[in-house]
Amino acid sequence: MKIIKTANKIAFELQNKKKIGFIPTMGCLHKGHVSLIKKSKKKKLLTVVSIFVNPLQFNNKKDFIKYPKTISTDLKICKKNKVDFVYLPQKKEIYPEKKIIIKNKIHFFKKYMEGKFRPGHFEGVIEVVKRLLKHIKTNYLFLGKKDYQQLIIIKEYLRSINSKIIVVPCDTIRAKNGIALSSRNKLLDQKSLNTAGKIINFLKNNKNKIIKSKDNSLFLKKIKEFGVKKIDYLTAFDLKKLKKTNKSTVNTRVFIAYYLNGVRLIDNF
Ligand code: AMP
Repeated sequence: MKIIKTANKIAFELQNKKKIGFIPTMGCLHKGHVSLIKKSKKKKLLTVVSIFVNPLQFNNKKDFIKYPKTISTDLKICKKNKVDFVYLPQKKEIYPEKKIIIKNKIHFFKKYMEGKFRPGHFEGVIEVVKRLLKHIKTNYLFLGKKDYQQLIIIKEYLRSINSKIIVVPCDTIRAKNGIALSSRNKLLDQKSLNTAGKIINFLKNNKNKIIKSKDNSLFLKKIKEFGVKKIDYLTAFDLKKLKKTNKSTVNTRVFIAYYLNGVRLIDNF
């Protein structure tokens, strides 16, 4: 496994390589990330993992500062899973300019869920993906359904630039108690993790009722009773029509964002 820190060097290493699988991450790797790596390795791709906490996608500075960092463990995990290259750029490799101007226009989700509650977030996500893909000329891009809106937005961005990159959507890996694995879980104590488990099980058991209800205040009340102080949204969304729905179809997913002990968690199922 090679660890590469500069844009020039990673581009050099990957030149003339034809079967590349790229897994962009913000580090603090867990079994969710590993499942993406394994998918790439299974396809016999030259597997590249990037670890870069992208400041542009954090609409909240505190959230950026406290984002967990476990670089030496991350590298061990990559090595164990036979990653070929880890791209570990400093901020100046990705954003060399003094003043970063983002021109991305997000057409989907502006009014919905993460798009609504994290202004500028998806614009920042597209910017970093755009720049990482300049450094890493990949054939395949592995993305998790844990961040379903992000997955759709990146796919749409690639379509809009006529990119040939194949996006591989990957299922959400969960802990035993049902919660989606997330780097942010590291910031939670055991009590909060147990609470998160209760919430997810409650939501899964009531999924169809949540989808069909025109007013979800009763569900919000119940979630708050579990110990949640703030819920950004609990929304049933049609991923094909790209709007809220009250119909349960194969395209319907329930999305939630809520806070536990000041940590913002998202999930969808
Ligand atoms: P992150 O490091 O959180 O930016 O995530 C990097 C990639 O891993 C993204 O494509 C995520 O959607 C994906 N990912 C994060 N958590 C999980 C999970 N629990 N299961 C599957 N994929 C995940």
